[in-house]
Amino acid sequence: MARDYYAILGVRRDASQDEIKKAYRRLARELHPDVNPDPETQERFKEITQAYEVLSDPKKREMYDLGADPFAPGGGAGAGFGAAGFPFSDIMDAFFGTATSRGPRSRARRGRNATLRVELDLAETAFGTTRELAIDTAVVCNVCSGAGTAPGTHPETCETCLGRGEVQQVTRSFLGQVMTSRPCPHCGGYGSVIRQPCPECSGDGRVRTRRTIKVRIPAGVESGTHIQLAGEGEVGPGGGPAGDLFLEIVERPHPIFEREGDDLHCTVQIPMTAAALGTQVAIETLDGTEEVDIRPGTQSGQVIRLHGRGVRHLNESGRGDLLIHVNVETPTNLDEEQEELLRRLAKLRGEERPPGKFAPGQQGFFSRVRAVFNGH
Ligand SMILES: [Zn+2]
Ligand SMILES: [Zn+2]
Repeated sequence: MARDYYAILGVRRDASQDEIKKAYRRLARELHPDVNPDPETQERFKEITQAYEVLSDPKKREMYDLGADPFAPGGGAGAGFGAAGFPFSDIMDAFFGTATSRGPRSRARRGRNATLRVELDLAETAFGTTRELAIDTAVVCNVCSGAGTAPGTHPETCETCLGRGEVQQVTRSFLGQVMTSRPCPHCGGYGSVIRQPCPECSGDGRVRTRRTIKVRIPAGVESGTHIQLAGEGEVGPGGGPAGDLFLEIVERPHPIFEREGDDLHCTVQIPMTAAALGTQVAIETLDGTEEVDIRPGTQSGQVIRLHGRGVRHLNESGRGDLLIHVNVETPTNLDEEQEELLRRLAKLRGEERPPGKFAPGQQGFFSRVRAVFNGH
């Protein structure tokens, strides 16, 4: 036998009908999809309901005890039962008396959320900005104020369901007579019918339009940041409340600076002579041009850090740093005089035939390459 229905309900094999019913009620309350919607619990709920369907019916229980399982995969043994397709919600309705408590539903529903991409330059994400955004969205119809009815008219009570919004049906099942209800097909469950829809919105209660909103974008946002503007999304049908508008920030690449968190990186090239002798270079920063000291003997790859010249932190004070990576250029296309000078310099420094020394700290090379491949 595929499944032990007695074990599933946690009752003995000689349990009375009353005990089976009590066990099922207790488990059903705990595992009901309304209480506990995760898929595993729903699977268990289905199991206990199947177990109950079989064990609560004396005839099916007898057949089950003889080795037939109506819910066994393949279904062969269950062919005689004919109840396997009975919808669970109806059983639950019968059990917990929810069948008559729904009532008509409201025409007003919450509007959808909307997402808008906002492209910003680095200076805007670094310091924050104010933007005027044009959005195409649904707003409340000003002819009917969201009601959906033509001026001077009102929704009329539905004749099919008499305003209840649902129709009821009596079904015979192994649980006895079961009262089930479904939304009224005539009025769609609203309990009322709009005979003369508003000519402006065709009864939807809203119209599409373009409107402009002014938005403050805080400093420190970056690509992928979502800013939620509550109630700025689409208005709902039937005058329902508006959804939210989400701004998705996309930062345009900057020609000079690369952003890493709130720090900025850039590379400057300086001639070999300047690196050796030291100099001052003018560097463009987000705050304007700044004179930066290059100390004598600066090496290629050295990093100069300008504190507080990066992006402002989001929602807190302070800023990131600007990191200047120095690239020392080796002179090319030497004329005769320059070559002469450099040879003299090499001789003075005893560097005419320098040994190829290994530089310290190259062990990180492959991990750096890997980091590049892994996108870090
Ligand atoms: Zn209207
Ligand atoms: Zn109706």
